[in-house]
Amino acid sequence: MIPRTVPTWQTKSWQEELSDLIQDPAILLERLQLGPEWLKPALDASIHFPLRATESYVSRIRPGDPQDPLLLQILPLAEELKPAPDYQKDPLEEARFTPVPGLVHKYQSRVLLVAATQCAINCRYCFRRHFPYEEHQLSRPEWLAALDYIRRAPEINEVILSGGDPLSLSDKQLGWLVENIGNIPHIKRLRIHSRYPIILPSRITPELLKAIHHPRLKTVMVMHCNHAQEIDGNVHDAVKAMRGADILVLNQAVLLKKINDNSRILATLSESLFDAGVLPYYLHLLDKVQGAAHFAVAEDRARELYGELLTLLPGFLVPKLVRETPDEGSKTPIPPL
Ligand SMILES: *Cc1c(COP(=O)(O)O)cnc(C)c1O
Ligand code: SF4
Repeated sequence: MIPRTVPTWQTKSWQEELSDLIQDPAILLERLQLGPEWLKPALDASIHFPLRATESYVSRIRPGDPQDPLLLQILPLAEELKPAPDYQKDPLEEARFTPVPGLVHKYQSRVLLVAATQCAINCRYCFRRHFPYEEHQLSRPEWLAALDYIRRAPEINEVILSGGDPLSLSDKQLGWLVENIGNIPHIKRLRIHSRYPIILPSRITPELLKAIHHPRLKTVMVMHCNHAQEIDGNVHDAVKAMRGADILVLNQAVLLKKINDNSRILATLSESLFDAGVLPYYLHLLDKVQGAAHFAVAEDRARELYGELLTLLPGFLVPKLVRETPDEGSKTPIPPL
């Protein structure tokens, strides 16, 4: 099946759009008709973690609304610089579970590969906002070492490409990686954790789908969408193309204050995902990363919202509310209140 790779309203290819990311807060504010009072905080906060967003994503933000739920995910704010005890640089202590560079082996049956060091968007709440990506920019020998680690660990049956965002790699690099993963006999599933289906749906091309296809592996795409307003016709097309290529498409969201901390908004998100052909998978409590404390929703409030959500949706549209902790062998389920 042939996806519509170049949407009618857009004349740029995905490569062009990637080289034309919005990275200057002044341009973002002008585009969205927001006043100059937002500029200084945005510049200050972006010193530590720069602004980055695609045109495609920004086009879904309502101009003139500083509370827009999509804007709040990308606009650097003064709050990020406020010290918050408890909020760390590596909240998940992933460094402890990194036996070889670029590979996180924390859960028994699945391993996470930090496949790319870049994202086409910088989400302000990202738990990897302080990730030492330079140390993880893998060379060819390091890739081979990571694959070798997987080959020697028969308990692993699933490889997760994560990042950064793995779809920042070229189709050629992805093709090489997937072929090598597929050559390891005990690997049954390939999982891709990516925000591209949302932030740059034109990235989902027939060439990409061909590159990530392996005849022996089942492929799962876990995309990342936090609010129904992120889903437009191009996202629908991208999901359709993935499903046409026999890929199971799931979504993970993060519970974020002022963005989706309301059971109606979360129910609408699930309904809109389903309309697009996506099933909700996880709803994560925020990881306590430095600079993101203003996004936190208290656990009791989260449990209360979750209880309400259960009444609003059929069971198959309710994501699992979870938290990630350094010492657990899986995500920790949080019960409803
Ligand atoms: C979340 C995560 C996974 C995947 O967990 P699932 O519950 O299988 O989705 C794997 N490894 C690490 C380090 C993770 O944080
Ligand atoms: S897409 Fe994911 S990894 Fe990239 S900045 Fe956003 S939350 Fe972080």
